[in-house]
Amino acid sequence: MEKQKFDVAVLGGGPGGYPAAIRAAQLGKKVALIEAKELGGTCLNRGCIPSKALIAGSDIVERLQQAASFGINIKGFDVDYGKLAEHKDKVVDKMLKGLEGLIAANKITVFKGFGQLTSPREIKIKGDSSDWIEADKIIIATGSEPRNISAFPFDYERIHDSTSLLAMKKLPKSMAIVGGGVIGCEFASLYATLGVDVTVLEMLPRIISTEAPEISQALTKSFIKKGIKIETGVAVQKIDKTISGIRITLADGKTFDADICLIAVGRSLNTSGIGLEKAGISVLDNGMIPVNDKMETGVEGIYAVGDIASKWWLAHVATHQGIVAADNASGKSARMAYNAIPSIIFTHPEVGSVGLSLEEAKKQGYKAKVGAYPFQALGKSQAALQTEGFAQIVIDEKTGQILGAQMIGYEAATLIAEMGLAVANELTVECLAETIHAHPTIAEAWHEAALMAEGLPIHLPPSKPSK
Ligand SMILES: Cc1cc2nc3c(=O)[nH]c(=O)nc-3n(C[C@H](O)[C@H](O)[C@H](O)COP(=O)(O)OP(=O)(O)OC[C@H]3O[C@@H](n4cnc5c(N)ncnc54)[C@H](O)[C@@H]3O)c2cc1C
Repeated sequence: MEKQKFDVAVLGGGPGGYPAAIRAAQLGKKVALIEAKELGGTCLNRGCIPSKALIAGSDIVERLQQAASFGINIKGFDVDYGKLAEHKDKVVDKMLKGLEGLIAANKITVFKGFGQLTSPREIKIKGDSSDWIEADKIIIATGSEPRNISAFPFDYERIHDSTSLLAMKKLPKSMAIVGGGVIGCEFASLYATLGVDVTVLEMLPRIISTEAPEISQALTKSFIKKGIKIETGVAVQKIDKTISGIRITLADGKTFDADICLIAVGRSLNTSGIGLEKAGISVLDNGMIPVNDKMETGVEGIYAVGDIASKWWLAHVATHQGIVAADNASGKSARMAYNAIPSIIFTHPEVGSVGLSLEEAKKQGYKAKVGAYPFQALGKSQAALQTEGFAQIVIDEKTGQILGAQMIGYEAATLIAEMGLAVANELTVECLAETIHAHPTIAEAWHEAALMAEGLPIHLPPSKPSK
């Protein structure tokens, strides 16, 4: 087998790997991109995009349910889930073709197959053909897979992981979701909106425990109002198949019956079986590859990005890391910063957060306070009948710097971007208060939250900001 020589080789073509390949090619490097399944990785094929294509359909259901309040009388409607799933598949197909074109336009050589490092500079690829490549720099971006729990193995028909659930063609009547994290809650919201009877079982004391407690409480309240049943502080002991569905037994003996269940209890990192030991790279107990802020591993010339290289399992973090790694691998200097990572939960209502929560800011030693503003008090929210939720900013009392922000409510996913800019650029609450926000918009909630923090609210009676 003849060895092919490249400047940069990228192992894994997900949102961490393919942008790294594009950036290295833009900087004049000869680039190889090795992908075992489909370009676009989890995000495009089994994660962000297909789930949001389905959720976009459920957004319409949400709005249709409100139609009568606007005087729009719709004589009944139903959901053809097969058609909605077709929409999802079409979106993924279209984006995949676009990505393949983009990779070709950047003159990147794609190897279809499973790559294994055989030394710090070499990768062997087993796919349709066998290939062997050598590269001056290697960027590892092999991502993650749903975590398989041996006590209740997936059968992909009734006991699903997120991948098989996304491939489902028919709606069940009822669904139990084990795990009330981001993925569990997004699916709970999606299927409950489509009319499925959903129960969420979470081991921790609250759902979306990575978010500020007040956001978690607000989402819990909203889910309960929607009819989603939530059990927190519970341990699932076993899952049995019944004649027509599944039965979940908790450690305390309580049982839950449903047609199907989703296990959403985290993901396993794809760092075993890829030859890391041959390259001299060791991993942490959870499989993560330690890197510095230039995305360099402990071995010179090898970088790691994406889910395998940070606690942020988000596509946009993977992409930014990929670009930083490719810049460094191509002779430029770039570093990652994690103080302003936006994080979204695409539920009804949406959740957006960036930077520190009040709790985290206090833990880090800041004398921090929040300014919060309810959607109820916004003209646009009232006009659009989207009055559920609030916006809050976390401020360093000493300097006025905006340390973080959280929002739950309509369009929070988009609206958090403004606070991303504020946190990343260390803007102060005064900057926000002096920025004119268009009226009537939900973005005014940020402006009003700043006024609340300054104790100068215009549209709410004065009250002391909470400490
Ligand atoms: C249901 C779901 C919804 C999500 N929604 C969002 C969202 O809305 N927003 C968001 O930011 N994030 C979301 N995520 C998370 C996001 O998908 C991941 O954080 C992101 O895909 C990580 O990118 P990555 O490049 O590190 O890995 P991946 O996307 O997992 O890509 C890794 C690629 O490497 C390939 N590979 C692995 N090993 C090898 C090998 N040895 N040789 C060749 N190829 C290999 C794999 O086939 C895969 O294509 C979601 C995830 C799931 C599961």
